[in-house]
Amino acid sequence: MEYINYEKKLPVKKHYDIIVCGGGVAGVAASISAAKNGLSTLLLEKSNILGGLATLGLVNFFVPMCNGRGKQIIFGLAEKWLRLSAELGFDTIPEPWKNGEPKEKTDVRYFQRYSPAIFAYQLTNEIVKNGVDILFDCIACDPIMEGNICRGVVTESKGGTEFYSCSMLIDTTGDADLLRRGGVPTVTGENFFTFGAKMINLKNCQKACEAGDVRYIYEDFHAGNINLYGDHQPSDVPRWSGLNTEEVTDYIVRNHLLMLEKLKATDRRSREIITTPGMPQFRTTCHIKGDYSLKVSDAYRHFDDSVCAINDFDHRDHLFEVPFRCLTRQDYPNIITAGRSADGTGYGWDLIRVIPPAILTGQAAGEAACLALKTGKDVARVDIKALQNKLEAENVMIHFPDEYVPEDKTVEIHGKNAVVVEGGHM
Ligand SMILES: Cc1cc2nc3c(=O)[nH]c(=O)nc-3n(C[C@H](O)[C@H](O)[C@H](O)COP(=O)(O)OP(=O)(O)OC[C@H]3O[C@@H](n4cnc5c(N)ncnc54)[C@H](O)[C@@H]3O)c2cc1C
Repeated sequence: MEYINYEKKLPVKKHYDIIVCGGGVAGVAASISAAKNGLSTLLLEKSNILGGLATLGLVNFFVPMCNGRGKQIIFGLAEKWLRLSAELGFDTIPEPWKNGEPKEKTDVRYFQRYSPAIFAYQLTNEIVKNGVDILFDCIACDPIMEGNICRGVVTESKGGTEFYSCSMLIDTTGDADLLRRGGVPTVTGENFFTFGAKMINLKNCQKACEAGDVRYIYEDFHAGNINLYGDHQPSDVPRWSGLNTEEVTDYIVRNHLLMLEKLKATDRRSREIITTPGMPQFRTTCHIKGDYSLKVSDAYRHFDDSVCAINDFDHRDHLFEVPFRCLTRQDYPNIITAGRSADGTGYGWDLIRVIPPAILTGQAAGEAACLALKTGKDVARVDIKALQNKLEAENVMIHFPDEYVPEDKTVEIHGKNAVVVEGGHM
């Protein structure tokens, strides 16, 4: 490949204690947690809407936050936002969970399908209320590194190329953009043929009118429709990493053309696509090669440095804890990540990246960044007990109760057995 040199003198705009790159649910959670501690916090978001995949990407579903036996596992900011999303938008919280954890044992799980646009507006309100500085339509391009220390971030926006300095960087781009460009070791994933828009049609409008509930108007309308396990991925469609513009473009073009083909089979007077994904619906692009990687075999294991208990969203009973080390690297003193780019292996990555855990790891990253700055420690070396105390004060469950662990600890994921590592704390 041929190269050119391209030099620019950049205006130094401002210093922040903490810069959070990417305003998906993890980034919003991280920046709010940081700002609430009184540290100056800047959130950079390349689109014009907060929430990332959870809003712009039309993934408007808080996956179950319970063990499938009527016991709630995921609390903290994730639960707060699940409830928030039901205040002004659709409320689909199942009956047994309407007023909190049910008194009776139930197989009904605790989830919520919400209005993506209204939830995005609510996230903007949270940002404003908590004193986070935000820049929309602003791409975080490059971290400026001095060895393994990040001194700030180069941004690209309508105003041109600019520089913001910082004491701590949180990468919540979902794709580990800043980590990769800063030379932090990462792991690349692959993504299936998935593209879902929201359609309304006359039949659903009628149903909504009859029920007196507008939430029935939506119907998912897919081009590529491959599930998270990759079942039936067409052999002639690539598995994209999603980490370069050619792959992203190929994914978009294939899906748009397929949408047109599928629409031809419908009556154009009876339906309309009311919203189309504004970002690629890629699940697993890139994550930090962290100090620990969460695995399915960690089911039912307690970690001394757990920052939250989580449950498997797709299978009952399975319980996990997320070690703080999934977000950090000891050799990078002021860089941390959260959300989709936290470290997980195989289905372990799926467990850690979905909306409720992404919010909780964001919350943990924001708190940890503050703790590190206030105590003069590297972020990977903060006092774990102090971090856990802060999170518990925000109603996060750190360790799942042992009485929720079933007798049969076989962990079967999508029909395949996984070996569970027995035993205690780690
Ligand atoms: C098809 C599909 C279905 C899913 N279904 C569910 C489900 O039903 N329930 C569930 O809980 N989860 C589901 N998920 C997973 C879940 O939506 C995401 O894992 C989660 O929302 C990730 O949040 P995040 O904040 O880590 O990242 P993202 O949502 O990816 O947010 C990243 C943000 O960073 C911004 N950004 C990126 N690069 C830059 C940059 N360089 N500069 C500035 N900003 C940048 C983006 O615009 C975006 O706002 C699904 C995912 C997919 C793809």
